Amino acid sequence: MLKCGLLGKKLSHSRSPEIHRQLGDYEYLLFEKQEDELEAFLKAGDWTGMNVTIPYKKTVLPYVAELSPVAEKIGSVNTLIRRPDGTLFGDNTDVAGFTSMVRFSGLCLRGTKVLVLGSGGASVSVCEGLRELDAFPVIISRRGENRYDNLEKHADASFLVNATPVGMFPDTEGSPLDLNRLPACRGVFDLIYNPRETRLMAQAREMGIPAVNGLYMLVAQARKSAELFTGKTIPEDKVEEIYRTM
Ligand code: NAP
Repeated sequence: MLKCGLLGKKLSHSRSPEIHRQLGDYEYLLFEKQEDELEAFLKAGDWTGMNVTIPYKKTVLPYVAELSPVAEKIGSVNTLIRRPDGTLFGDNTDVAGFTSMVRFSGLCLRGTKVLVLGSGGASVSVCEGLRELDAFPVIISRRGENRYDNLEKHADASFLVNATPVGMFPDTEGSPLDLNRLPACRGVFDLIYNPRETRLMAQAREMGIPAVNGLYMLVAQARKSAELFTGKTIPEDKVEEIYRTM
């Protein structure tokens, strides 16, 4: 049986094994590693496919022999494949996961301004996904040109993506911003999936604005990774089926 898994630093709350069990017939294990253990782990040849999560999506780049065009463009890897000659191929399925989530929402982002909160790893994938959808992302960060304290200059934004951990379990009382500051907002995408409804999403619901959580993206990126692990096509319907069961 193929040996696959997830590489990261703290993985105890990961839902990935539950998802991958439903995606294919391969072993999916959690590998919690410290920085000084990475090189030996990546060079050891006893696994075929590996997802990569916080904080190693960039750290693995020097160990990869070839990158997919999207991973190269955004400089971030969430899927590694060990090739028959032992070298590693790196790809990023978060971008496709995000665009799948947007399609699933039924909202049309084409030609619109979309505020993306946070400038970390997820934000990079979201911005690339938004460009693929012909939308115009603007990153809102705690520092730099576009910040929370001068948000009013982007009050015309049509959509909002939360790519920060603010609102995530266990600090579920937090919200990255008050939606009243975005009077033109027509939809909210929160990458957080625990809790199922964040404070930000609850506010959107109260204001009659559609809001989607990150679970669909999580399952959709896993499907793409599973296809790379196994070399087999998995129908897109499977994402919705798993999403509904979870
Ligand atoms: P990250 O690399 O740690 O970056 C998060 C960014 O959020 C930071 O760069 C920072 O941007 C901002 N931020 C962090 N703490 C903040 C705070 N207290 N207040 C305001 N802003 C803060 O994390 P990530 O990998 O990008 O992940 C972000 C979120 O997306 C997490 O909740 C993660 O679970 C979720 N995620 C979901 C999926 C999915 O499939 N659904 C995939 C990837 C990630 P600034 O410094 O620019 O403000």
